[in-house]
Amino acid sequence: MKEIYTLADLQKWKAHTKAPIRLGVLGNPVAHSLSPQMQNAALEKCGLGMRYARFEIDSAELESALESLRQLDFVGINLTIPHKIAALALMDEADETARRVGAVNTIKVDDGKLRGFNTDGKGFARAIREEFSVDLRDLRIFVIGAGGAARAIALQCAKENCERLVIANRDLEKANQLVETLRGFFSGPRVLGPVARLQAIGFEETVLRFQIGNIDLVVNATPLGLNRGDAAPIPARLLAPHLMVYDTVYAKGPTAFVSGAIAAGARAASGLSMLLHQGALAFEIWFDRAAPVDVMRKALL
Ligand code: NAP
Repeated sequence: MKEIYTLADLQKWKAHTKAPIRLGVLGNPVAHSLSPQMQNAALEKCGLGMRYARFEIDSAELESALESLRQLDFVGINLTIPHKIAALALMDEADETARRVGAVNTIKVDDGKLRGFNTDGKGFARAIREEFSVDLRDLRIFVIGAGGAARAIALQCAKENCERLVIANRDLEKANQLVETLRGFFSGPRVLGPVARLQAIGFEETVLRFQIGNIDLVVNATPLGLNRGDAAPIPARLLAPHLMVYDTVYAKGPTAFVSGAIAAGARAASGLSMLLHQGALAFEIWFDRAAPVDVMRKALL
């Protein structure tokens, strides 16, 4: 099995006879993806006789790659940067969550049909429960970012009836648009005092400082932290001991944002647990059976 396959490989695909590759992740870059080690451990544990591989596919190649995978009778596909949003229009069917989020991270190939799902939101909720022993319900949550991951996370927070949701984004207009899609979830009669239950904000420090005082959970849903030398999504001096901080970015050790939060006295975790749970949910969609979560966790660590 190669480390990374390409569209050219797919177009002259020769199925291996023993444990053929019938699942994979499409992205660009994709070399960093930890999904193969996690999913292959699960496939082996469950004796499913197939394997999961990485496919480096750029935006212009996505449609052709999905067509090849449909014809090759693959079982399942994950999508990562930059394909989650573009893939939605290429599905034969998409579930309600994928449609609401506007992005697909999991595809099931079913009788030649591509069925799209998005497991990021539920994976996030499970990660928060695992890391901090709390449910999203009743938390005051601050999400940084308004892209695909932030949209999935914000929708999950809204569906689980979080107490407050504040979205901060570099492009404030995108944060405002996201807030408008969620307005219906926050029309209830709760009285919170001087702060709004649902709000989009920019990055001015005074605004951030005021918001942090009325927040329990801060979530980084931007790629900041993926590259050495990235600025922190918000300055560590704004973090305080009452906070839980979740960085959807993951790295071998703690990310700089997580280290800064811990130094500020907060509880903090990075995105490996979300990767695990969104992957376990994808496995459950593909095979209609419980995923061996402990085996997958061990493979990741
Ligand atoms: P995306 O759709 O491209 O959105 C990126 C978001 O980050 C946008 O809101 C963008 O703001 C913001 N952003 C990008 N660069 C920035 C910068 N230099 N400064 C401030 N804001 C910046 O990407 P995505 O699919 O949401 O993924 C975001 C990250 O989430 C990924 O890099 C990945 O690390 C993480 N993620 C983790 C998991 C997991 O399982 N752990 C799952 C999904 C995603 P603008 O709108 O202003 O451009």
